Amino acid sequence: MKKQMITLAAAGALLLSAAPLQADAVGNGPNYGGNETINTSILHTYSELASYLQKQEAKQQDMELEVIGQSVKGRDLYLVKYMKNPENPTILFLTQQHGNEQLTTEGALEFIKHLGTGKMKGVTDNVNILIVPMLNPDGAMGDVDFSLDDYVASGDRHLTRYNALGVDLNRDHVTKIQPETQALHSNVMQKYDIDYMIDLHHQGTRSERDGELVSGSILYPTTPNVDPEVLEGSKKLGAVVFDAVDSTGWGHLGKYVGGTAETISRNGIAVEYGISTLLFEMRGMSDHEYEPYVLGQKSNGYLIKQTITTLDSTVRAIADGSIETKDTSFWDTLAEQRNRQSEDE
Ligand SMILES: [Zn+2]
Repeated sequence: MKKQMITLAAAGALLLSAAPLQADAVGNGPNYGGNETINTSILHTYSELASYLQKQEAKQQDMELEVIGQSVKGRDLYLVKYMKNPENPTILFLTQQHGNEQLTTEGALEFIKHLGTGKMKGVTDNVNILIVPMLNPDGAMGDVDFSLDDYVASGDRHLTRYNALGVDLNRDHVTKIQPETQALHSNVMQKYDIDYMIDLHHQGTRSERDGELVSGSILYPTTPNVDPEVLEGSKKLGAVVFDAVDSTGWGHLGKYVGGTAETISRNGIAVEYGISTLLFEMRGMSDHEYEPYVLGQKSNGYLIKQTITTLDSTVRAIADGSIETKDTSFWDTLAEQRNRQSEDE
């Protein structure tokens, strides 16, 4: 597997025209600068995502595609389901609450394709998988009621954190006022017996741990109201992810520094539903008005791979039960990430 990746990286230039999202930079880690080209046209548009999911549903017998609601601008919100046995443990992957954090969605789409191949045969017999990709399609398409003129990426659209009304969906998990958050809670959280959830995001580009730039950061629920058993499940989930990403050679994770507010899904969903949640922040956003937050497309390869590694490792650890005996002591020594100083900040 590792050898294959190195070969892929070496052949990057050749593959670039055939599969631009996959080809470059698998094998490159966060110490590769990667800010040469920032172009959003390389990312799936919302309608490309919709037709991709519909095609996969037609191909894959075990996959079910459901519409759980509509965005402010009327775009259907999708839920991808693999649910062979309701008695099995269930994990939910949520991407792109923030519209400008799209590589997590790109990784989730690849993972959905993998689930339809022989490589994942048998895994879905023992675990139920729910995936909500792109909860904020209006933000992802830049179809919003405020100006994005100052955003830095080039390409055929801008992407923004907020929904069409300028609301941060990941601060709406208590009141649930926005249609996107409502759809998630009414038609996913309240409808299924979910054990684990990973909420996938992107952070800035300049965070480091132990003197090296990180490829991402992770954190469990930090509200004092979380049940200790739920918290322990979150730490185990984090242990699976940390081991899988850290062992790639290019993955380098820090501990995210996050607050206790329950308006944030990591905290609120853990308390309200007793779900073991994990926040995963990948490095670098697809677009933003603040340039140091944005990461060029040469980093897409390893960040998409990091998402796939995260989804794949957790699904397998839940399916074979190994998550339950996972050692969580690494959390006691994992350093919080810090912001690296640079001349222009
Ligand atoms: Zn985010």
